[in-house]
Amino acid sequence: MTKPSFFDLTFDELKALLAEKGLTPFGATQMFDWVYKKWVFDPAQWTNVARATKEFVIEAFDFGMLPIVWSGLSKDGTRKFLVKLADGQTVETVAIPARERLTLCVSSQVGCAVGCTFCHTATQGLKRHLKPSEVVLQYMTIQKWLMDHVHADERLTNIVYMGQGEPLHNFENMKKATLIFMAERGLGLGQRRITLSTSGLVPAIEKLAEDFPPVNIALSLHSARNNVRTELMPINKVYDLERLFTAIKKIPLKAHRRITYEYLLIDGMNDTMEDVVALAALLNSKESKINLIPFNEFPGSKYKRPSEERIMWFLDQMIKRGFTVTIRTTKGSDILAACGQLKSEFDKLNLWDKKDGPVVIPSIASSVLQNLQSPQR
Ligand code: SF4
Repeated sequence: MTKPSFFDLTFDELKALLAEKGLTPFGATQMFDWVYKKWVFDPAQWTNVARATKEFVIEAFDFGMLPIVWSGLSKDGTRKFLVKLADGQTVETVAIPARERLTLCVSSQVGCAVGCTFCHTATQGLKRHLKPSEVVLQYMTIQKWLMDHVHADERLTNIVYMGQGEPLHNFENMKKATLIFMAERGLGLGQRRITLSTSGLVPAIEKLAEDFPPVNIALSLHSARNNVRTELMPINKVYDLERLFTAIKKIPLKAHRRITYEYLLIDGMNDTMEDVVALAALLNSKESKINLIPFNEFPGSKYKRPSEERIMWFLDQMIKRGFTVTIRTTKGSDILAACGQLKSEFDKLNLWDKKDGPVVIPSIASSVLQNLQSPQR
């Protein structure tokens, strides 16, 4: 029988478990130190941990990382990984360099139920939620890989919950993973280093203030007009802009903190003057940051990327209206970095071993990927 993963435990849970077993709770501090600060996952090497405690955790828990079944490096430095879970499912996780940061974009679910019409993952439907350990292990696995394969000092600095899945649909598990990321005794990631991005699941947003660790919030807005947003994101039928913003206004913002609004710019869909006016009317310029994301076309996508002139025009219009606006450059487009693309391409070409996931033959994988690059302008 498979053992539960050690990476499902928060610090407080581990402490309570040790106490319950009659072991010294201080062992939790020592173990978190070995695992999350010293990167030693073999309990046999934990020299200062009591023997009884080591014997107990060796017997009770699995300390394994996630197998990486494929990795690709983009020209811009973005690294994409396909990792395999215990039940054979795979998810994508992407390390994105930008200035002095190295951000890991993690997945929260296998597939997704939200059904955004511009998203490749949506075509896969929801298979299941990820466990807390499967979220934490994306970070641990990739950080270890970077230390082993890039440089011993290479460090991930930030995490965004923007990979496959809607994180708030997997509320409890993402909350637990966040507690593990933030634990002072463990990885100790500060709240400013973690960003949760949601499509707008209102009942979960309403619980954020009281029931979720305080992290940065990003909302996938994509349109300030209900009819357009509903077309792009069917969730808007249930939670329209009015309900959504009633919930968002309840999120307490500390001084100088803003909510980031992700705005995918799609040619002829949400890039007109009507859209500019609606967006400026909906958002408060002092409490918002707008992140424009020119659409990253993928094979079979029905939407198009606007021209560079149109993108700059939209940016300019929002800046003139007093907003802080950034443009997210498309990262890793030469390695299928839009979420869900890699898994789908392996699925489509049937490059899977029935038991073990993708058949990873580097020469085949690279030629497949060359052939499957998304069209770029
Ligand atoms: S964009 Fe995000 S929320 Fe929407 S379908 Fe894709 S993964 Fe789900």
